[in-house]
Amino acid sequence: MIRAVVWGENVHERTNETVASIYPAGMHNCIAAALNEDPAIEATTATLQEREHGLPQSRLDRTDVLLWWGHAAHGKVSDDVVERVADAVWGGMGLILLHSAHFSKIFKKLMGTPCSLTWREAGERERIWVTTPGHPIAEGLPDYFELEHEEMYGEPFSVPEPLETVFVSWFEGGEVFRSGLTYRRGAGSVFYFRPGHEAYPTYHDANIRLVLRNAVKWANPRTTRNADVHAAPNRAVETALEPIEERGPKLHADGEDGLR
Ligand code: ZN
Repeated sequence: MIRAVVWGENVHERTNETVASIYPAGMHNCIAAALNEDPAIEATTATLQEREHGLPQSRLDRTDVLLWWGHAAHGKVSDDVVERVADAVWGGMGLILLHSAHFSKIFKKLMGTPCSLTWREAGERERIWVTTPGHPIAEGLPDYFELEHEEMYGEPFSVPEPLETVFVSWFEGGEVFRSGLTYRRGAGSVFYFRPGHEAYPTYHDANIRLVLRNAVKWANPRTTRNADVHAAPNRAVETALEPIEERGPKLHADGEDGLR
């Protein structure tokens, strides 16, 4: 079983009537239900309002893939939790960033760029093209599919060049956007997926739900995660495999110079 956790900011669902009517149990529960349609996935939820935002270390240690939806409260997410999530990704946990999570602390940290874009909230049609046919995240999808009402996100999207661009969106108003991007950060697989504005029923759409399940399977760690074994250890190697002639000076010998 792939252990997925859907993290939801859970703010608009409780403060805005439109959003509450579309997602009466919260967006996070709608997304988790989409994932749980697949018998290979066991999805649970966590929210901003829980202690440690529902993501204590013990929970992350038992998480294969974390999904993240946030918009209004990025600044309320504790830096400690962000550091913890980044460390889990570097150690192999998969991370899927949804829609306005492009501005989340964790995505900006992992990208190292502003992650800004253009937008327009006009409920226009979005046509999502599969640009990498055969990619596991696009499995089972037609050449393109449409969402009747979505918020527009437009280029330029200031993120690093991705490993793969799985989807490109066209909007009724004329803009285009790279909607599905993959990255590797440390040992972790990272996927950014654009659709999902809270005022529209995007996470009820069958194609969107399929993409989310595919993405969780794609982001599942290739090897068993072990919280005690960091994928990228920072350590001195005192003994060389081949004979070498040592040349001084040995500044780092005692490890107390702070330069390691
Ligand atoms: Zn939005």
